[in-house]
Amino acid sequence: MSGRIEQSVRYWAFLLIKICVAAVVSGVLLWSANLFWAPTRFFDMVPYLFGFDLLYTTVTGLVFLASYGLVYLAFLDQRYRCRVCLRRLRMPVETGSWSRMLQFGRPRLEYICIYGHGKLNVEEIQFTGTEHPKWKQHQDMWSELYGTKAPDLDP
Ligand SMILES: [Zn+2]
Repeated sequence: MSGRIEQSVRYWAFLLIKICVAAVVSGVLLWSANLFWAPTRFFDMVPYLFGFDLLYTTVTGLVFLASYGLVYLAFLDQRYRCRVCLRRLRMPVETGSWSRMLQFGRPRLEYICIYGHGKLNVEEIQFTGTEHPKWKQHQDMWSELYGTKAPDLDP
């Protein structure tokens, strides 16, 4: 039980770290944009120029778009990470078929952790809005695949 809590904390802490890095990068971008307008103190000129100076407002808007993109990339990257070891999920395989839906299910992409911790099913078409991908954790997928379970190896 504590192992699952530790995995969950690591997973969400990693996302928090990425968001903090994105915030720092955004702050540096805004600070460097503010260097071109006097006075050069940090965040000092935002209330005076934003909305009144077209160039400053445009640059600030671009910094906002870059910041939003960084946060989006942080969440997108987190979606395709292993919930156990935080490595990127690999080997996307298309499964299912529209013409044989009753036999194989709806088309979706399956990503696996290369260390066998689990797999992620992402629906190809999302009918009812955004459907969250389904993570299925395995105990030891490679041992099951090769038929070499750990208790069998021990004498
Ligand atoms: Zn893993």
